[in-house]
Amino acid sequence: MGTEIKVIVVGAAGKMGSAVCRAIISDEDLQLAGAVDKTGVGALVPEAPQVSIQSDLAKTLDETGGDVIVDFTRADSILANAAAAAEAGAHVVIGATGLSAGEIDQLAALAAAGGSNILLAPNFAIGAVIMMKVSERIAPYFSRAEIVEYHHDQKHDAPSGTAILTAEMIGRLLVPGPLDEVEKYPGARGGTVSGIPVHSVRLPGLVAHQEVIFGQTGQILTIRHDSIDRSSFMPGVVLAVKEIGARPGFTYGLDKLLDL
Ligand code: NAD
Repeated sequence: MGTEIKVIVVGAAGKMGSAVCRAIISDEDLQLAGAVDKTGVGALVPEAPQVSIQSDLAKTLDETGGDVIVDFTRADSILANAAAAAEAGAHVVIGATGLSAGEIDQLAALAAAGGSNILLAPNFAIGAVIMMKVSERIAPYFSRAEIVEYHHDQKHDAPSGTAILTAEMIGRLLVPGPLDEVEKYPGARGGTVSGIPVHSVRLPGLVAHQEVIFGQTGQILTIRHDSIDRSSFMPGVVLAVKEIGARPGFTYGLDKLLDL
């Protein structure tokens, strides 16, 4: 029991956070030491009747001596949560998305300052990580690529963190030239990330899906990944929680923990 990693889930009342709490509780090497959210404060975490949702992360870190925080809140609280964890000497696993490039740099600087290892992964599903790596591998063989990402209509940020990271990975290798085109309605051609057009679909019924479409004269290659249930993310989150203590500094992307 003494070797269990003590985990605090931030955003524990949310869709992802509550699934992460269940995944932590189910793993014999992990202990759900605390749960933090700004909603549902005081409510007991299902299946962990000794843990109730708290509002103050710093206080929860202090009271529980948590080893790792897992953050599934929103972009606007990630930096403050990571700073609180670093102050307490806890490592940080971040699944929440929507950070700007400058904010990601700030996270990296916080990790470089020592005291706390930080991992940021916009997608913890192994299939999505493979989709990104395969896209990176084949990008040099095509002249154009576009990304279409599909999410449920509660998603706050667009484009998705997965689409941004995918575009950054393939945009380094494939630089589509300008097209002779007129966008008659603003946004019709999507947004552009690292030179790659990205289109975001938001509909009830969806979970998290993405297509990377590569085009070359006379042929199209489409790589598609579908998370049809939030359980798809849990093995990756659990892996990150177990590995983060051995990964000094800042890690961006779950692929860094996998032998791909
Ligand atoms: P959600 O809205 O259901 O949950 C977010 C929770 O965070 C809510 O309960 C909210 O009250 C809480 N919260 C927000 N700000 C807070 C703060 N300052 N302090 C404490 N709690 C706070 O959203 P969700 O669908 O669970 O998604 C959460 C995040 O995870 C989003 O950014 C989403 O894009 C991301 N996500 C990442 C992955 C991945 O694999 N990395 C997968 C799915 C979703």
